[in-house]
Amino acid sequence: VFSSSLGLPVVVDNPPVLTYHKVERRPELGITWVSPERFERHIRFLQEVGYATIHLHEAAARLRNSISLPPSTIAITFDDGYQGILDHALPVLQRYSFTATVFVVTGYVGRANTWDVNPGWRTFPHLSWEGLSHLRDAGVEVGSHTVSHRDLTTLSCDQAAEEIESSREELHRQLGVEADVLSYPFGRYNDAIIATTRRAGYVAACSSRPSRRDDLLFLRQRGVYAIDTLLDLKWKLGRSPFSWLEMMKLRMIAGFSYGTILAQTVREMLRT
Ligand SMILES: [Zn+2]
Repeated sequence: VFSSSLGLPVVVDNPPVLTYHKVERRPELGITWVSPERFERHIRFLQEVGYATIHLHEAAARLRNSISLPPSTIAITFDDGYQGILDHALPVLQRYSFTATVFVVTGYVGRANTWDVNPGWRTFPHLSWEGLSHLRDAGVEVGSHTVSHRDLTTLSCDQAAEEIESSREELHRQLGVEADVLSYPFGRYNDAIIATTRRAGYVAACSSRPSRRDDLLFLRQRGVYAIDTLLDLKWKLGRSPFSWLEMMKLRMIAGFSYGTILAQTVREMLRT
């Protein structure tokens, strides 16, 4: 374990973080969903090739103590905390004895995803606190995806700190969990946000934006989308000489989210 410029330990053997959004039967125009059947194919494949899952806070604890993880360790995460995780993903995970992490937008618990500015598109329900407590009881790790899913890099320091800190407090209040892992909305962060995240007590944080930086407070998420086949999944896990192509694709997909970021910023300007 080396030390980065921020004085954080650099993880040289962190687990790949696979990130799903919606596991749904109703398709949407976008690509941030997979059908329950496709999700099960992915999970079956991961089990067949010998992967085992770990919670991110546990991975962080081991890596901080310089205990390396078996190379076949993987973290499965869900950004945004949709109802489909409970309805469709959890039964599959349980069937294959896998665990996962769900990143919750605390200001939208029990509400539709109106933060996702996609005119004319369908909305999807976020899990309620009751649904989240079922996931917690089933051994799913609960983490924060901030309060309102804003691009943290567009907010003032105080606003960003509020998003990062009070979401964690709310998860503790409502579910009694130590939510000590975070996923940056739109994968966007900077050095100040990383410092705030660390100060707030998070032990690990993820970003969907491919980056060369890779340590516990900016773990690289590998998004899984409607278009992904088993081959894509293999490429995402870095087990192919073509993995760089997959990383290029993920970079392009991350670029699409600028539409929502822009619309949120305009909406916020109109409100004030
Ligand atoms: Zn998100």
